[in-house]
Amino acid sequence: MRTAVVVGAGLAGLATAGALSRSGWHVVLLERGERVAAPPTALVLWPNGRRALESLDAEGGWSAIACPLPDGGVRRPDGQWLVTPRSGGAGPAPGAVHLEDLYDALMAGLGDLAEIRTGFAVTTIRTGPGLRPVIGDGRTEIEADLVVAADGIDSTLRRTLAPESAAVGSGFAAWQAVIPGYRVPPAGQSAGGETLGAGYRFVSIPLGERAAGEGGVYWVATAAGAPRPESPATQLELLRRWFAGWHPPVGELLAATHADELVPQEVRELRPLPRSYAFPSGPGGVVLLGDAAHAMPHHLGQGACLAFEDAATLRALAGEAAPGPALTAALEAYSRLRQPRATTVVRQTRRMSAVVQARGRLALRARDAALNHMRPRILSAPFADWRPPD
Ligand SMILES: Cc1cc2nc3c(=O)[nH]c(=O)nc-3n(C[C@H](O)[C@H](O)[C@H](O)COP(=O)(O)OP(=O)(O)OC[C@H]3O[C@@H](n4cnc5c(N)ncnc54)[C@H](O)[C@@H]3O)c2cc1C
Repeated sequence: MRTAVVVGAGLAGLATAGALSRSGWHVVLLERGERVAAPPTALVLWPNGRRALESLDAEGGWSAIACPLPDGGVRRPDGQWLVTPRSGGAGPAPGAVHLEDLYDALMAGLGDLAEIRTGFAVTTIRTGPGLRPVIGDGRTEIEADLVVAADGIDSTLRRTLAPESAAVGSGFAAWQAVIPGYRVPPAGQSAGGETLGAGYRFVSIPLGERAAGEGGVYWVATAAGAPRPESPATQLELLRRWFAGWHPPVGELLAATHADELVPQEVRELRPLPRSYAFPSGPGGVVLLGDAAHAMPHHLGQGACLAFEDAATLRALAGEAAPGPALTAALEAYSRLRQPRATTVVRQTRRMSAVVQARGRLALRARDAALNHMRPRILSAPFADWRPPD
């Protein structure tokens, strides 16, 4: 039987393990954490991410867990429109989903098809001509035809296979939170959207009734600069000060958030991207997938969407491939398709980084002009038009 080891049970690893096992692979999914656990936040799946999930057969429950996005538009802190909302666009409608619900759906798609081993932190990988790839944690070694590195931005496997690529700070800090439905202030119940100040950005999205059983509102705040060293309670106070005077419901949502709901983090990215996403070894090899392959700032909300595209592409190319020349060719084709795609999305994300970072009167004027021109293009084709290979 064809064997695959998937390293990392985040969104990328869960989707890939499900996709390969439904194609007849024997899959072992390794996670360093003691359990497979979703962060207490949410995200948006744009049309390309939704289409990728659909093609993975993992989307069955999407409509039960997702909440449609309010029509996109961007405001200034005083509430004036910088980019007016435009509804419609190519592909399936984008939606927001609580990560606990998305993890549950992907775990349900795995069923008992894959073997999940938690508390297994991969520390070593061996590859070479004529050698099936072997991963290990210092005590146990596992050999497989295919190893999928889905171990996130600090990927151990990528550090060995593509040392040219490093995780670096993007010059931003981000804070996320989900406020449960019963505590959402009236101003935040249906309103959602994106607001850009000078070096600051605030996005809020209603999650509807269902999110993780509690409904609620998800928000993410971004500020140019380094992550803050203070306690979550002090950071929340800082956020309330920075965003004071912004149009409703920004202040109301920050006031309703509890410090223990705050998820602060440094925004990081891979620079440069790995030159290749496939490393043939023996009759198969190793591929990089998800943030391990192309971690980027969250400004366009494309990280998980691209991870699902990766998984769908790998399934389309390697799902039926036999170990040997067919599998090696499939992995090389995966890299040829995915590396340029990620490069394009990263390039657009960097342009958006400059927009979010803009401060000062002249820079803000240039930002407003650029944004009006750029945003509708970014959010429609070519991102939305993505389809898995036949
Ligand atoms: C503020 C913010 C907002 C975002 N919003 C969006 C959005 O709206 N839309 C969108 O598409 N994307 C968004 N993203 C990006 C998205 O969250 C990520 O791209 C995605 O979650 C990456 O998933 P992953 O599985 O590749 O990595 P991870 O989630 O990092 O998972 C990696 C897994 O591997 C495990 N692991 C790590 N090392 C090892 C090891 N050595 N051995 C075994 N296991 C290991 C980890 O424990 C973890 O479970 C956002 C990101 C941020 C920060």
